[in-house]
Amino acid sequence: MFASQFNLFNLVNSFLVDPVFRTLSDIASNEGVRAWVIGGYVRDLFMHNPSKDIDIVVEGSGIGFAQAVARYTNACNLQVFKNFGTAMLSYKDWKIEFVGARKESYRLSSRKPIVENGTIEDDQKRRDFTINAMSLSLNKADFGQLIDPFGGIRDLDLKIIRTPLDPDITYSDDPLRMMRAIRFASQLNFKIEEKSLKAITINSERIKIVSQERITDELNKIIMAAKPSVGFKLLNETGLLKIIFPEMVELQGAEYKEGRGHKDNFLHTLIVLDNIALKTENLWLRWAAILHDIGKPATKKWVDGIGWTFHGHDFVGSKMIPSIFRRMKLPKGDHLKYVQKLVALHLRPIALVEDVVSDSAVRRLLFEAGNDIDDLMTLCSADMSSKIPEKIQRYRENFDLVRTKLIEIEEKDRLRNWQPPITGDIIMTTFNIPPCKEVGIIKTAIREAILEGNIPNEFEPAYQLMLQTGKELGLKQVSN
Ligand code: ATP
Ligand code: MG
Repeated sequence: MFASQFNLFNLVNSFLVDPVFRTLSDIASNEGVRAWVIGGYVRDLFMHNPSKDIDIVVEGSGIGFAQAVARYTNACNLQVFKNFGTAMLSYKDWKIEFVGARKESYRLSSRKPIVENGTIEDDQKRRDFTINAMSLSLNKADFGQLIDPFGGIRDLDLKIIRTPLDPDITYSDDPLRMMRAIRFASQLNFKIEEKSLKAITINSERIKIVSQERITDELNKIIMAAKPSVGFKLLNETGLLKIIFPEMVELQGAEYKEGRGHKDNFLHTLIVLDNIALKTENLWLRWAAILHDIGKPATKKWVDGIGWTFHGHDFVGSKMIPSIFRRMKLPKGDHLKYVQKLVALHLRPIALVEDVVSDSAVRRLLFEAGNDIDDLMTLCSADMSSKIPEKIQRYRENFDLVRTKLIEIEEKDRLRNWQPPITGDIIMTTFNIPPCKEVGIIKTAIREAILEGNIPNEFEPAYQLMLQTGKELGLKQVSN
Protein backbone atom coordinates (compact mmCIF):
# COMPACT_ATOMS: atom_id res chain seq x y z
CA MET A 1 0.00 0.00 0.00
CA PHE A 2 1.56 3.25 -1.12
CA ALA A 3 -0.72 5.32 1.02
CA SER A 4 0.53 4.20 4.41
CA GLN A 5 2.26 7.08 6.13
CA PHE A 6 5.09 4.80 7.20
CA ASN A 7 5.95 3.73 3.65
CA LEU A 8 5.67 7.27 2.35
CA PHE A 9 8.05 8.45 5.02
CA ASN A 10 10.54 5.69 4.20
CA LEU A 11 10.39 6.36 0.48
CA VAL A 12 10.88 10.07 0.85
CA ASN A 13 13.76 9.34 3.21
CA SER A 14 15.39 7.16 0.61
CA PHE A 15 15.03 10.14 -1.73
CA LEU A 16 16.82 12.35 0.78
CA VAL A 17 19.73 9.93 0.95
CA ASP A 18 21.15 10.34 -2.55
CA PRO A 19 23.66 13.23 -2.47
CA VAL A 20 22.48 14.57 -5.83
CA PHE A 21 19.36 16.01 -4.17
CA ARG A 22 21.33 17.73 -1.38
CA THR A 23 23.65 19.17 -4.03
CA LEU A 24 20.72 20.54 -6.04
CA SER A 25 19.17 21.88 -2.85
CA ASP A 26 22.41 23.68 -1.82
CA ILE A 27 22.75 25.27 -5.25
CA ALA A 28 19.10 26.40 -5.23
CA SER A 29 19.62 27.95 -1.81
CA ASN A 30 22.82 29.76 -2.89
CA GLU A 31 21.11 31.05 -6.02
CA GLY A 32 18.02 32.10 -4.09
CA VAL A 33 15.59 30.08 -6.25
CA ARG A 34 12.86 27.66 -5.19
CA ALA A 35 13.09 24.22 -6.82
CA TRP A 36 11.24 20.88 -6.83
CA VAL A 37 11.66 17.42 -8.30
CA ILE A 38 8.51 16.74 -10.30
CA GLY A 39 6.80 14.23 -12.59
CA GLY A 40 8.12 10.82 -13.64
CA TYR A 41 10.89 10.56 -11.03
CA VAL A 42 8.47 11.14 -8.14
CA ARG A 43 5.90 8.73 -9.60
CA ASP A 44 8.50 6.01 -10.11
CA LEU A 45 9.98 6.55 -6.64
CA PHE A 46 6.61 5.83 -5.08
CA MET A 47 6.29 2.78 -7.30
CA HIS A 48 9.57 1.48 -5.85
CA ASN A 49 11.21 1.87 -9.20
CA PRO A 50 13.42 4.99 -8.96
CA SER A 51 14.80 6.09 -12.34
CA LYS A 52 17.93 7.98 -13.31
CA ASP A 53 15.97 10.75 -15.05
CA ILE A 54 15.11 13.74 -12.89
CA ASP A 55 12.83 16.59 -13.90
CA ILE A 56 13.36 19.79 -11.92
CA VAL A 57 10.97 22.72 -11.89
CA VAL A 58 12.02 26.10 -10.49
CA GLU A 59 10.08 29.27 -9.89
CA GLY A 60 11.93 31.58 -12.28
CA SER A 61 14.30 30.58 -15.06
CA GLY A 62 14.89 26.85 -15.58
CA ILE A 63 17.75 27.63 -17.95
CA GLY A 64 19.38 30.01 -15.45
CA PHE A 65 19.26 27.37 -12.72
CA ALA A 66 20.63 24.67 -15.07
CA GLN A 67 23.56 26.97 -15.89
CA ALA A 68 24.22 27.46 -12.18
CA VAL A 69 24.13 23.69 -11.56
CA ALA A 70 26.54 23.13 -14.45
CA ARG A 71 28.93 25.72 -12.96
CA TYR A 72 28.85 24.31 -9.41
CA THR A 73 29.13 20.64 -10.35
CA ASN A 74 31.33 20.85 -13.46
CA ALA A 75 28.59 18.74 -15.07
CA CYS A 76 29.11 17.99 -18.73
CA ASN A 77 26.81 18.30 -21.75
CA LEU A 78 24.69 21.24 -20.71
CA GLN A 79 22.14 21.59 -23.49
CA VAL A 80 19.92 24.64 -23.62
CA PHE A 81 16.65 24.72 -25.57
CA LYS A 82 15.90 28.45 -25.64
CA ASN A 83 12.65 28.07 -27.62
CA PHE A 84 11.19 25.74 -25.01
CA GLY A 85 12.75 27.46 -21.99
CA THR A 86 14.28 24.15 -20.91
CA ALA A 87 17.79 22.78 -20.35
CA MET A 88 19.32 19.39 -19.77
CA LEU A 89 22.59 18.09 -18.34
CA SER A 90 24.30 14.88 -17.27
CA TYR A 91 25.70 14.66 -13.78
CA LYS A 92 27.30 11.40 -12.62
CA ASP A 93 24.81 8.82 -13.95
CA TRP A 94 21.85 11.20 -13.70
CA LYS A 95 20.08 12.90 -16.58
CA ILE A 96 18.57 16.10 -15.24
CA GLU A 97 16.05 18.34 -17.04
CA PHE A 98 15.19 21.84 -15.92
CA VAL A 99 12.16 23.98 -16.61
CA GLY A 100 10.71 27.16 -15.14
CA ALA A 101 7.28 26.86 -13.49
CA ARG A 102 4.60 27.73 -16.07
CA LYS A 103 1.04 28.75 -16.41
CA GLU A 104 -0.45 27.62 -19.69
CA SER A 105 -3.47 28.45 -21.79
CA TYR A 106 -4.43 26.80 -25.05
CA ARG A 107 -5.87 27.72 -28.43
CA LEU A 108 -8.06 25.38 -30.44
CA SER A 109 -5.80 24.89 -33.45
CA SER A 110 -2.53 23.95 -31.85
CA ARG A 111 -1.13 21.86 -29.02
CA LYS A 112 1.38 24.64 -28.37
CA PRO A 113 0.10 26.68 -25.43
CA ILE A 114 0.49 30.35 -24.60
CA VAL A 115 2.96 30.23 -21.73
CA GLU A 116 3.49 32.62 -18.84
CA ASN A 117 5.72 32.35 -15.80
CA GLY A 118 3.85 30.77 -12.90
CA THR A 119 4.08 29.27 -9.44
CA ILE A 120 4.64 25.65 -8.50
CA GLU A 121 0.84 25.33 -8.09
CA ASP A 122 0.25 26.63 -11.63
CA ASP A 123 2.85 24.23 -12.94
CA GLN A 124 1.29 21.21 -11.26
CA LYS A 125 -2.08 22.11 -12.80
CA ARG A 126 -0.66 21.89 -16.32
CA ARG A 127 0.61 18.33 -15.78
CA ASP A 128 -1.11 15.53 -17.64
CA PHE A 129 -2.05 13.06 -14.89
CA THR A 130 -2.45 13.13 -11.13
CA ILE A 131 0.34 10.56 -10.77
CA ASN A 132 2.64 12.80 -12.87
CA ALA A 133 1.83 16.01 -10.99
CA MET A 134 3.49 15.24 -7.65
CA SER A 135 6.56 17.13 -6.53
CA LEU A 136 9.20 16.83 -3.80
CA SER A 137 10.72 19.98 -2.38
CA LEU A 138 14.42 20.78 -2.74
CA ASN A 139 14.06 23.88 -0.55
CA LYS A 140 15.83 24.17 2.81
CA ALA A 141 12.68 25.03 4.75
CA ASP A 142 10.77 21.88 3.77
CA PHE A 143 13.31 19.62 2.04
CA GLY A 144 11.69 16.33 0.94
CA GLN A 145 8.14 17.59 1.47
CA LEU A 146 5.68 15.96 -0.93
CA ILE A 147 3.21 18.25 -2.70
CA ASP A 148 0.41 16.11 -4.10
CA PRO A 149 -2.43 18.50 -4.96
CA PHE A 150 -4.59 16.06 -6.96
CA GLY A 151 -4.34 12.78 -5.06
CA GLY A 152 -1.53 11.21 -7.06
CA ILE A 153 -0.59 8.89 -4.20
CA ARG A 154 -4.19 7.68 -3.92
CA ASP A 155 -4.31 7.05 -7.69
CA LEU A 156 -1.04 5.10 -7.60
CA ASP A 157 -2.66 3.02 -4.92
CA LEU A 158 -5.85 2.55 -6.96
CA LYS A 159 -3.77 1.99 -10.13
CA ILE A 160 -5.74 4.61 -12.02
CA ILE A 161 -4.88 7.19 -14.69
CA ARG A 162 -6.76 10.41 -13.98
CA THR A 163 -6.28 13.99 -15.17
CA PRO A 164 -5.90 16.78 -12.57
CA LEU A 165 -8.51 18.96 -14.30
CA ASP A 166 -11.56 18.24 -16.49
CA PRO A 167 -10.41 15.45 -18.83
CA ASP A 168 -12.37 16.87 -21.75
CA ILE A 169 -10.34 20.08 -21.59
CA THR A 170 -7.06 18.34 -20.73
CA TYR A 171 -7.20 16.10 -23.83
CA SER A 172 -8.61 18.72 -26.13
CA ASP A 173 -5.86 21.19 -25.10
CA ASP A 174 -3.08 18.74 -25.86
CA PRO A 175 -4.31 15.60 -27.65
CA LEU A 176 -0.90 13.91 -27.29
CA ARG A 177 -2.04 13.27 -23.71
CA MET A 178 -4.54 10.71 -25.08
CA MET A 179 -1.64 8.62 -26.37
CA ARG A 180 0.23 9.19 -23.12
CA ALA A 181 -2.75 8.02 -21.02
CA ILE A 182 -2.85 4.77 -22.98
CA ARG A 183 0.92 4.46 -22.85
CA PHE A 184 1.03 4.80 -19.04
CA ALA A 185 -1.94 2.42 -18.68
CA SER A 186 0.02 -0.16 -20.72
CA GLN A 187 3.43 0.42 -19.08
CA LEU A 188 2.15 0.55 -15.50
CA ASN A 189 -0.76 -1.84 -15.92
CA PHE A 190 -3.21 0.86 -14.69
CA LYS A 191 -6.85 1.49 -15.62
CA ILE A 192 -7.87 4.76 -17.27
CA GLU A 193 -10.65 6.43 -15.30
CA GLU A 194 -14.05 6.03 -17.00
CA LYS A 195 -14.54 9.80 -17.42
CA SER A 196 -11.13 10.06 -19.01
CA LEU A 197 -11.76 7.18 -21.38
CA LYS A 198 -14.97 8.84 -22.55
CA ALA A 199 -13.14 12.15 -23.04
CA ILE A 200 -10.48 10.42 -25.14
CA THR A 201 -13.16 8.83 -27.30
CA ILE A 202 -14.90 12.18 -27.80
CA ASN A 203 -11.63 13.96 -28.59
CA SER A 204 -10.00 11.20 -30.66
CA GLU A 205 -10.17 13.20 -33.91
CA ARG A 206 -8.01 15.89 -32.33
CA ILE A 207 -5.02 13.53 -32.45
CA LYS A 208 -4.68 14.87 -36.02
CA ILE A 209 -3.10 18.11 -34.76
CA VAL A 210 -0.24 16.16 -33.12
CA SER A 211 2.98 15.58 -35.05
CA GLN A 212 3.48 12.04 -36.30
CA GLU A 213 6.87 11.78 -34.55
CA ARG A 214 5.27 12.31 -31.14
CA ILE A 215 2.46 9.85 -31.86
CA THR A 216 4.93 7.20 -33.04
CA ASP A 217 7.13 7.77 -29.98
CA GLU A 218 4.22 6.93 -27.70
CA LEU A 219 3.09 4.04 -29.90
CA ASN A 220 6.57 2.50 -29.69
CA LYS A 221 6.42 2.79 -25.90
CA ILE A 222 3.06 0.99 -25.93
CA ILE A 223 4.61 -1.72 -28.12
CA MET A 224 7.48 -2.12 -25.66
CA ALA A 225 5.14 -2.67 -22.67
CA ALA A 226 5.12 -6.12 -21.07
CA LYS A 227 1.64 -6.81 -22.51
CA PRO A 228 1.20 -4.52 -25.54
CA SER A 229 -2.32 -5.79 -26.38
CA VAL A 230 -3.64 -3.72 -23.44
CA GLY A 231 -2.63 -0.51 -25.23
CA PHE A 232 -3.84 -1.60 -28.66
CA LYS A 233 -7.25 -2.56 -27.28
CA LEU A 234 -7.55 0.88 -25.66
CA LEU A 235 -6.42 2.60 -28.86
CA ASN A 236 -9.06 0.63 -30.72
CA GLU A 237 -11.89 1.21 -28.24
CA THR A 238 -11.31 4.96 -28.17
CA GLY A 239 -11.21 5.32 -31.95
CA LEU A 240 -7.57 6.45 -32.01
CA LEU A 241 -6.31 3.35 -33.80
CA LYS A 242 -8.64 3.96 -36.75
CA ILE A 243 -6.96 7.34 -37.24
CA ILE A 244 -3.31 6.51 -36.59
CA PHE A 245 -3.17 2.93 -37.91
CA PRO A 246 -6.21 2.11 -40.11
CA GLU A 247 -4.57 -0.99 -41.63
CA MET A 248 -4.66 -2.63 -38.24
CA VAL A 249 -8.34 -1.88 -37.71
CA GLU A 250 -9.02 -3.52 -41.08
CA LEU A 251 -7.86 -6.82 -39.56
CA GLN A 252 -10.86 -6.80 -37.28
CA GLY A 253 -13.89 -9.05 -37.49
CA ALA A 254 -14.74 -12.44 -38.89
CA GLU A 255 -16.91 -13.08 -41.90
CA TYR A 256 -19.09 -16.18 -42.20
CA LYS A 257 -20.20 -18.02 -45.32
CA GLU A 258 -21.89 -21.38 -45.48
CA GLY A 259 -21.34 -21.65 -41.75
CA ARG A 260 -17.59 -21.22 -42.06
CA GLY A 261 -15.81 -18.26 -40.53
CA HIS A 262 -12.20 -17.19 -40.31
CA LYS A 263 -10.44 -15.99 -37.20
CA ASP A 264 -10.53 -12.34 -36.16
CA ASN A 265 -7.10 -11.31 -37.37
CA PHE A 266 -6.94 -8.25 -35.11
CA LEU A 267 -7.32 -10.38 -31.97
CA HIS A 268 -4.98 -12.99 -33.42
CA THR A 269 -2.34 -10.32 -34.11
CA LEU A 270 -2.59 -9.11 -30.52
CA ILE A 271 -2.09 -12.65 -29.20
CA VAL A 272 1.00 -13.03 -31.41
CA LEU A 273 2.29 -9.64 -30.20
CA ASP A 274 1.81 -10.57 -26.52
CA ASN A 275 3.47 -13.93 -27.18
CA ILE A 276 6.50 -12.33 -28.78
CA ALA A 277 6.73 -9.68 -26.04
CA LEU A 278 7.50 -12.53 -23.62
CA LYS A 279 10.48 -13.53 -25.76
CA THR A 280 12.09 -10.34 -27.03
CA GLU A 281 12.85 -6.71 -26.22
CA ASN A 282 13.59 -6.06 -29.90
CA LEU A 283 11.13 -3.34 -30.97
CA TRP A 284 11.45 -4.31 -34.65
CA LEU A 285 10.71 -7.96 -34.02
CA ARG A 286 7.60 -6.76 -32.15
CA TRP A 287 6.73 -4.62 -35.18
CA ALA A 288 7.09 -7.71 -37.40
CA ALA A 289 4.53 -9.46 -35.15
CA ILE A 290 2.14 -6.50 -35.50
CA LEU A 291 2.48 -6.52 -39.28
CA HIS A 292 2.79 -10.23 -40.03
CA ASP A 293 -0.83 -10.61 -41.23
CA ILE A 294 -1.37 -7.03 -42.40
CA GLY A 295 -1.85 -8.31 -45.97
CA LYS A 296 -4.80 -10.53 -45.03
CA PRO A 297 -7.72 -8.15 -45.70
CA ALA A 298 -6.36 -7.35 -49.17
CA THR A 299 -5.98 -11.02 -50.10
CA LYS A 300 -9.09 -12.50 -48.48
CA LYS A 301 -11.10 -14.70 -50.80
CA TRP A 302 -13.83 -17.29 -50.50
CA VAL A 303 -13.03 -20.40 -52.53
CA ASP A 304 -15.85 -22.90 -53.02
CA GLY A 305 -15.00 -26.25 -51.52
CA ILE A 306 -12.06 -24.81 -49.56
CA GLY A 307 -13.37 -21.88 -47.51
CA TRP A 308 -11.65 -18.59 -46.69
CA THR A 309 -8.16 -18.15 -48.12
CA PHE A 310 -5.53 -15.44 -47.77
CA HIS A 311 -3.19 -16.45 -50.57
CA GLY A 312 -0.06 -14.35 -50.86
CA HIS A 313 -0.81 -12.30 -47.72
CA ASP A 314 2.85 -12.72 -46.72
CA PHE A 315 4.04 -11.13 -49.97
CA VAL A 316 1.30 -8.48 -50.18
CA GLY A 317 1.83 -7.63 -46.50
CA SER A 318 5.55 -7.13 -46.92
CA LYS A 319 4.86 -4.77 -49.84
CA MET A 320 2.53 -2.66 -47.66
CA ILE A 321 5.19 -2.01 -45.05
CA PRO A 322 7.26 0.78 -46.71
CA SER A 323 4.25 3.08 -47.00
CA ILE A 324 3.15 2.32 -43.41
CA PHE A 325 6.68 3.06 -42.17
CA ARG A 326 6.83 6.26 -44.22
CA ARG A 327 3.52 7.54 -42.87
CA MET A 328 4.44 6.62 -39.30
CA LYS A 329 7.86 8.27 -39.69
CA LEU A 330 9.54 5.01 -38.73
CA PRO A 331 13.12 4.53 -39.96
CA LYS A 332 13.75 3.72 -43.62
CA GLY A 333 16.96 1.63 -43.88
CA ASP A 334 17.83 -1.66 -42.21
CA HIS A 335 14.93 -1.76 -39.73
CA LEU A 336 12.39 -1.47 -42.54
CA LYS A 337 14.14 -4.17 -44.58
CA TYR A 338 14.30 -6.45 -41.55
CA VAL A 339 10.57 -6.14 -40.80
CA GLN A 340 9.70 -6.64 -44.49
CA LYS A 341 11.85 -9.74 -44.68
CA LEU A 342 10.32 -11.33 -41.58
CA VAL A 343 6.79 -10.62 -42.80
CA ALA A 344 7.60 -12.01 -46.25
CA LEU A 345 9.07 -15.20 -44.75
CA HIS A 346 6.71 -15.72 -41.81
CA LEU A 347 4.91 -18.71 -43.30
CA ARG A 348 8.00 -20.57 -44.39
CA PRO A 349 9.00 -22.36 -41.17
CA ILE A 350 5.35 -23.37 -40.62
CA ALA A 351 5.23 -24.78 -44.14
CA LEU A 352 8.16 -26.96 -43.19
CA VAL A 353 6.19 -28.24 -40.20
CA GLU A 354 3.34 -29.36 -42.40
CA ASP A 355 5.37 -30.94 -45.21
CA VAL A 356 7.84 -33.73 -45.06
CA VAL A 357 10.93 -31.65 -44.42
CA SER A 358 13.41 -31.92 -47.25
CA ASP A 359 17.00 -30.79 -46.81
CA SER A 360 16.76 -28.46 -49.77
CA ALA A 361 13.69 -26.63 -48.36
CA VAL A 362 15.57 -26.05 -45.11
CA ARG A 363 18.67 -24.92 -47.03
CA ARG A 364 16.61 -22.39 -49.00
CA LEU A 365 15.11 -20.98 -45.83
CA LEU A 366 18.53 -20.62 -44.22
CA PHE A 367 19.83 -18.96 -47.34
CA GLU A 368 16.96 -16.44 -47.53
CA ALA A 369 16.69 -15.63 -43.83
CA GLY A 370 20.45 -15.34 -43.24
CA ASN A 371 21.28 -13.98 -39.81
CA ASP A 372 17.60 -13.31 -39.07
CA ILE A 373 16.68 -17.00 -38.98
CA ASP A 374 16.45 -17.10 -35.16
CA ASP A 375 14.14 -14.06 -35.10
CA LEU A 376 12.04 -15.63 -37.85
CA MET A 377 11.70 -18.79 -35.78
CA THR A 378 10.70 -16.69 -32.74
CA LEU A 379 8.02 -14.93 -34.82
CA CYS A 380 6.77 -18.18 -36.23
CA SER A 381 6.59 -19.78 -32.82
CA ALA A 382 4.62 -16.79 -31.47
CA ASP A 383 2.26 -17.15 -34.47
CA MET A 384 1.16 -20.65 -33.49
CA SER A 385 -2.19 -20.01 -31.91
CA SER A 386 -5.14 -22.34 -31.89
CA LYS A 387 -8.12 -22.86 -29.63
CA ILE A 388 -7.41 -26.59 -29.64
CA PRO A 389 -4.59 -27.47 -27.19
CA GLU A 390 -3.80 -30.82 -28.90
CA LYS A 391 -3.29 -29.03 -32.19
CA ILE A 392 -0.84 -26.58 -30.58
CA GLN A 393 0.96 -29.47 -28.93
CA ARG A 394 1.36 -31.30 -32.25
CA TYR A 395 2.52 -28.09 -33.96
CA ARG A 396 5.09 -27.44 -31.26
CA GLU A 397 6.53 -30.93 -31.54
CA ASN A 398 6.87 -30.65 -35.32
CA PHE A 399 8.28 -27.17 -34.95
CA ASP A 400 11.00 -28.52 -32.67
CA LEU A 401 11.87 -30.99 -35.41
CA VAL A 402 12.28 -28.11 -37.87
CA ARG A 403 14.51 -26.34 -35.35
CA THR A 404 16.73 -29.43 -35.00
CA LYS A 405 16.89 -29.81 -38.76
CA LEU A 406 17.90 -26.15 -39.18
CA ILE A 407 20.76 -26.59 -36.73
CA GLU A 408 21.88 -29.83 -38.41
CA ILE A 409 21.94 -28.35 -41.92
CA GLU A 410 23.48 -25.10 -40.77
CA GLU A 411 26.34 -27.02 -39.18
CA LYS A 412 26.82 -29.13 -42.29
CA ASP A 413 26.39 -26.53 -45.03
CA ARG A 414 27.06 -23.17 -43.30
CA LEU A 415 24.39 -21.38 -45.35
CA ARG A 416 23.67 -18.57 -42.95
CA ASN A 417 25.13 -15.43 -44.53
CA TRP A 418 26.12 -17.53 -47.48
CA GLN A 419 28.89 -16.21 -49.70
CA PRO A 420 29.24 -17.99 -53.05
CA PRO A 421 32.44 -20.08 -53.17
CA ILE A 422 33.03 -18.80 -56.73
CA THR A 423 32.94 -15.02 -57.17
CA GLY A 424 32.08 -13.06 -60.29
CA ASP A 425 35.74 -12.05 -60.55
CA ILE A 426 36.89 -15.66 -60.71
CA ILE A 427 34.37 -16.38 -63.48
CA MET A 428 35.44 -13.32 -65.52
CA THR A 429 39.17 -14.11 -65.21
CA THR A 430 38.72 -17.80 -65.98
CA PHE A 431 36.89 -17.14 -69.23
CA ASN A 432 38.36 -13.69 -69.90
CA ILE A 433 34.94 -12.08 -70.22
CA PRO A 434 33.63 -8.65 -69.13
CA PRO A 435 30.65 -8.34 -66.72
CA CYS A 436 27.80 -9.89 -68.73
CA LYS A 437 24.76 -12.09 -68.40
CA GLU A 438 26.81 -15.31 -68.64
CA VAL A 439 28.45 -14.42 -65.30
CA GLY A 440 24.99 -14.28 -63.69
CA ILE A 441 23.91 -17.55 -65.29
CA ILE A 442 26.97 -19.36 -63.94
CA LYS A 443 26.54 -17.87 -60.44
CA THR A 444 22.86 -18.91 -60.35
CA ALA A 445 23.71 -22.44 -61.52
CA ILE A 446 26.23 -22.80 -58.69
CA ARG A 447 23.84 -21.40 -56.05
CA GLU A 448 20.97 -23.62 -57.18
CA ALA A 449 23.17 -26.72 -57.22
CA ILE A 450 24.29 -26.00 -53.65
CA LEU A 451 20.77 -25.27 -52.38
CA GLU A 452 19.39 -28.40 -54.08
CA GLY A 453 22.21 -30.43 -52.52
CA ASN A 454 23.62 -31.52 -55.91
CA ILE A 455 27.09 -30.28 -54.94
CA PRO A 456 28.52 -29.44 -51.48
CA ASN A 457 29.05 -25.82 -50.46
CA GLU A 458 32.79 -25.94 -51.30
CA PHE A 459 35.24 -24.35 -53.73
CA GLU A 460 36.42 -27.33 -55.80
CA PRO A 461 33.05 -28.82 -56.82
CA ALA A 462 31.74 -25.28 -57.47
CA TYR A 463 34.79 -24.59 -59.67
CA GLN A 464 34.14 -27.74 -61.68
CA LEU A 465 30.49 -26.77 -62.15
CA MET A 466 31.62 -23.30 -63.32
CA LEU A 467 33.85 -24.88 -65.99
CA GLN A 468 31.10 -27.20 -67.12
CA THR A 469 28.42 -24.48 -67.27
CA GLY A 470 30.85 -22.15 -69.09
CA LYS A 471 31.51 -24.82 -71.67
CA GLU A 472 27.78 -25.34 -72.20
CA LEU A 473 27.49 -21.59 -72.81
CA GLY A 474 30.25 -21.77 -75.40
CA LEU A 475 32.88 -19.98 -73.28
CA LYS A 476 36.58 -20.80 -73.49
CA GLN A 477 38.70 -21.32 -70.40
CA VAL A 478 41.80 -19.07 -70.64
CA SER A 479 43.24 -19.33 -67.11
CA ASN A 480 42.99 -21.51 -64.05
P1 ATP B 1 8.99 8.62 -18.86
O1 ATP B 1 10.19 9.52 -18.86
O2 ATP B 1 9.14 7.32 -18.19
O3 ATP B 1 8.39 8.49 -20.22
P2 ATP B 1 7.73 10.81 -17.55
O4 ATP B 1 6.52 10.94 -16.66
O5 ATP B 1 9.01 11.31 -17.01
O6 ATP B 1 7.83 9.32 -17.98
P3 ATP B 1 8.10 12.67 -19.70
O7 ATP B 1 7.57 12.66 -21.08
O8 ATP B 1 9.56 12.57 -19.49
O9 ATP B 1 7.34 11.53 -18.89
O10 ATP B 1 7.57 14.01 -19.03
C1 ATP B 1 7.96 14.46 -17.76
C2 ATP B 1 6.79 15.07 -17.02
O11 ATP B 1 6.30 16.19 -17.74
C3 ATP B 1 5.59 14.16 -16.84
O12 ATP B 1 5.69 13.36 -15.70
C4 ATP B 1 4.44 15.15 -16.76
O13 ATP B 1 4.37 15.70 -15.48
C5 ATP B 1 4.88 16.24 -17.70
N1 ATP B 1 4.37 16.11 -19.06
C6 ATP B 1 4.99 15.55 -20.12
N2 ATP B 1 4.27 15.63 -21.23
C7 ATP B 1 3.14 16.28 -20.89
C8 ATP B 1 1.97 16.71 -21.61
N3 ATP B 1 1.83 16.45 -22.92
N4 ATP B 1 1.03 17.38 -20.93
C9 ATP B 1 1.17 17.66 -19.61
N5 ATP B 1 2.23 17.28 -18.89
C10 ATP B 1 3.21 16.61 -19.50
MG1 MG C 1 10.93 11.46 -18.14
